[in-house]
Amino acid sequence: MGEELKKLKEKLGYQSAHVWDRLDKDEKEAVETLANDYKAFLSKAKTERECTAEICALLEARGFHPESSTRFYRVFREKVVVAVVAGRKPPQEGIRLIASHIDSPRLDLKLHPLLEEFEMAYFKTHYYGGIKKYHWVALPLALHGVVVKADGTKVKIVIGEDLDDPVFTICDLLPHLARKVQGEKKLREAIPGEKLNVLVGGLPLPDSEEKERVKLAVLKLLNERYGLVEEDFISAELEVVPAGPARDVGLDRAFIGAYGQDDRICAFTSLAALLNLEAPPYTSVALFLDKEEIGSDGNTGAKSRLLEKIYFDLLKILGVSAPSTDLVLDVFFRTRAISADVTAGIDPFYQEVHEKLNDARMGHGVVVTKYTGHGGKYAANDAHAEYVGWLRRVLNRAGVVWQAASFGKVDEGGGGTVAKYLAFHGLDIIDVGPPLLSMHSPFEIAHKGDLYMTYRAYKAFFEAAEV
Ligand code: MN
Ligand code: MN
Repeated sequence: MGEELKKLKEKLGYQSAHVWDRLDKDEKEAVETLANDYKAFLSKAKTERECTAEICALLEARGFHPESSTRFYRVFREKVVVAVVAGRKPPQEGIRLIASHIDSPRLDLKLHPLLEEFEMAYFKTHYYGGIKKYHWVALPLALHGVVVKADGTKVKIVIGEDLDDPVFTICDLLPHLARKVQGEKKLREAIPGEKLNVLVGGLPLPDSEEKERVKLAVLKLLNERYGLVEEDFISAELEVVPAGPARDVGLDRAFIGAYGQDDRICAFTSLAALLNLEAPPYTSVALFLDKEEIGSDGNTGAKSRLLEKIYFDLLKILGVSAPSTDLVLDVFFRTRAISADVTAGIDPFYQEVHEKLNDARMGHGVVVTKYTGHGGKYAANDAHAEYVGWLRRVLNRAGVVWQAASFGKVDEGGGGTVAKYLAFHGLDIIDVGPPLLSMHSPFEIAHKGDLYMTYRAYKAFFEAAEV
């Protein structure tokens, strides 16, 4: 190509950049530091409650307090956190909000989970969120959660994370006997939900008269260690998740592999951005939501009136003595928001579901997704061009490496985020987050460059003074 045409292409054409081509040595070290903190967070926080606790611990360590009026946070039902840094302008002039979700697909224990079959004890489960059931067999699993006992006391349980701990597993059928019962079925039917039973015991109590001696032995163990009886499972939230810590992936350690990166990568990076804010122009809010993976229903989900409650409280804390509904609605309409959630990175070996020109490339930075939804943009929050234009200016001025992308080929599938539920309140909102591979699997993959640019994008959004 001639020199002139090359210049013309640079001037008129568009091409996204690889993050690694845009970072100097110092910034590459900053990527590694952030990645290490992120892996530590993921390894500790595997449920929405654990995320809440870990987020609060990090907030407290950086000077946030529930009672403060400049750097404060609130917790709702141990599953939602809202953290706020007061801005230089009064909140009536608008708010900057980043909302992520801290629930992830998993297996919940049923209300009556414990059974014995052939002198082995199992926990029955009910899956939560969009899983591919075959992902969950034949791998080490851990049990995380809480049990509320008859007297109201709450017991926290984490088994399977310490190297000395036992783990659990769901057994799969050997290939020798699986030819018909699995091999001739559709992939999504090969492992029925009722077979997702977790192996938890195999030592019978010494009494040949008793029928279910292994089950009783498991109950005895749970009673000795946690003071539990079988009825306590009814008032429990015990979640089966992949065991073990987050890891680097690749000879060059370019990637992070871990459970729960949808959407804890956005929770972590938006928290990190907020922690590093000093007197931003607008009051900045990081909101960590629950129940996104099952449609944002329930009183800890984005469809509830939680956001209204948060805005009323926030205005009071920031000095508005009795905020009217009129004022709250006005502040909603002056809010600029990010729906912080992950998107699908192009998988080179499944290009048939992707649209190469419009889907996200791993390593090309944080992704701005104007609309999600499915079919003819059904169920989409389609951000307005003016708002996209504003965000584009903010990201470019801050030198963030970002890409604009959608979610697979038209009519191939699709997905949703909390964006449309928050947009209901009147705020401007757009999806911004990193691409993942193996999303919704027990070992999701993120690129460290995208992790870093997601953090940079959220920080630039909070700090933006542009109108
Ligand atoms: Mn998500
Ligand atoms: Mn998801």
